[in-house]
Amino acid sequence: MGFKALVVRKDDAGKASATVEEMDETALPEAAVTVDVAYSTVNYKDGLCLGSGGGLVKSWPHVPGIDFAGTVADSADAAFAPGDPVVLTGWRVGEVWWGGYAQKARVKPDWLVNLPDGLTARQAMAVGTAGFTAMLAVMALEDHGLTPDQGPVLVTGAAGGVGSVATAILANLGYEVAAVTGRPESADYLKDLGASRIVPREELAETVKRPLETETWAGCVDAVGGDMLARVLGQMKYGASVAAVGLAGGTALPATVIPFLLRGVNLLGIDSVMRPKADRERAWARIARDLPLDKLEAMIVPASLSEVPELGRAILKGQVRGRVVVDVN
Ligand code: NDP
Repeated sequence: MGFKALVVRKDDAGKASATVEEMDETALPEAAVTVDVAYSTVNYKDGLCLGSGGGLVKSWPHVPGIDFAGTVADSADAAFAPGDPVVLTGWRVGEVWWGGYAQKARVKPDWLVNLPDGLTARQAMAVGTAGFTAMLAVMALEDHGLTPDQGPVLVTGAAGGVGSVATAILANLGYEVAAVTGRPESADYLKDLGASRIVPREELAETVKRPLETETWAGCVDAVGGDMLARVLGQMKYGASVAAVGLAGGTALPATVIPFLLRGVNLLGIDSVMRPKADRERAWARIARDLPLDKLEAMIVPASLSEVPELGRAILKGQVRGRVVVDVN
């Protein structure tokens, strides 16, 4: 049966372009479960995969979309049956495997998670990889002892996808959230999500000059990396943890080891892609419980498949606010 997909092709000069095409199910990769995709989304990584691939995509033509939610259409695996609501993030789907920018996807059963009760496919993609990763970051901070009475928690890149969801979850759990943004016009949006303080990006943009600054933050979800992460490390309270999620501000870490040695600061790496299934199920259950759905609704930017290439360019420039939800049908 035919279906629509957003296909990235490269021309002879190596230039990539993405267009919506009609395609046949026989073109899908070989795997046990076929999913009728309802929604996908646009993450930072999708921005890369929609263009030249940023080293993530290995062959073309390619169908990007690193996450999707929908219902099982057909399954050769006993774990899933037609009609099951499912969500997929990670496993390099949308990079080395055809992804969610299509009305159908075919994937390995181990990659799918049953949608938790209380979340629709649209809400699951409003969360998406970014929100799922934000939840993993909050869980990592909690696992390292963070509690709301310890003081303010910093969220960097706050108006982006990871940052928006982290802000809403932390605020809902009773944390005082300080939201770092480079877009002053996002202040009201972030306060509505539950941030109690807005920290202008410039305040943390300068390279580390002093390895230790005033002990300020009880925890941090960092979507930015680079100079900002380096500065934040020197501002953490004694024994506090930073969950390193992203690299929107760069891959370097121009820091010193002093915060680790003198203040026992922990730097926790957060990977969402290869996470074992048990962690995924735990995180999705926590999302269904701890992320207020009215706040999630406020983050949504609706889009169609044909609008995705433009949104991919925008997210690479840090111009997308909140979470894009792509209706692929
Ligand atoms: P977004 O583009 O939605 O958000 C990133 C935000 O970072 C922007 O909205 C902006 O927030 C801020 N920002 C952008 N450029 C800069 C800069 N030069 N300096 C400082 N701040 C900047 O992306 P996502 O939220 O989807 O992803 C955030 C990061 O997390 C990405 O690097 C992504 O690759 C990574 N990621 C990692 C995952 C993992 O498994 N570890 C999974 C998912 C995402 P504002 O305007 O508020 O300043």
